[in-house]
Amino acid sequence: MSILEQFSDLHARFFARKDILNAAQEIAEKLETNIAWIEQVHGDRSIVVRDALNATEKADGIATDQKNLALIIQVADCQAFLFYDPTKKILSLLHAGWRGLASNAIQKHIDLLSKTWNTDPHDLFVYIAPSICAACYEFKGWHDVLPAAMHPYVQNDHLDLMSCANDQLKAADILQDHIERSPDCTCHMASSYWSWRAKNTGPDAPKEDRTKRNYLVAMLKTIS
Ligand SMILES: [Zn+2]
Repeated sequence: MSILEQFSDLHARFFARKDILNAAQEIAEKLETNIAWIEQVHGDRSIVVRDALNATEKADGIATDQKNLALIIQVADCQAFLFYDPTKKILSLLHAGWRGLASNAIQKHIDLLSKTWNTDPHDLFVYIAPSICAACYEFKGWHDVLPAAMHPYVQNDHLDLMSCANDQLKAADILQDHIERSPDCTCHMASSYWSWRAKNTGPDAPKEDRTKRNYLVAMLKTIS
């Protein structure tokens, strides 16, 4: 069973091809709850939230111990991670593209959970939403910007973000059988997902589609 469905106190969904202007409100209405989302900046900062947040903080990770508060991360080719600690009842989401992986955003995110709630990485379950595959992700000039630790993930000017993230999760002591990754590539499957590289969103897309993203949404539920 998917990590997204296996815990009765966790509600999580990946919304593909949603309009950024309507998504937050639609999601809030659908879940009948407050939402917390951040202004994502391709950085390495994660924050703790305990109330609604309307993208007024610059960060790429968001974590909570509060029930009935929906967390949202938006992506188009980048990786969206869900972390759930069923022992401490902690939920968090993280957005990471190559910049996030290069700045150790994953380790820093897990450090925040450990520091704030004493989360043991061995207790964490991780879901990774559809994202771009190595075959679709050509990265010219990588040698000048990627740290040496990421060079092994480049082949013929294509960067394998998925393998790099998998290894970073392993290095952060996440158990292999606690990790679930969607096999879908957002670019290969651009009819199903918004993809920057497939040019159905972002600066090269038709004007009305430029701001569109996919959304990973998750919330801790009260079990009655
Ligand atoms: Zn692909």
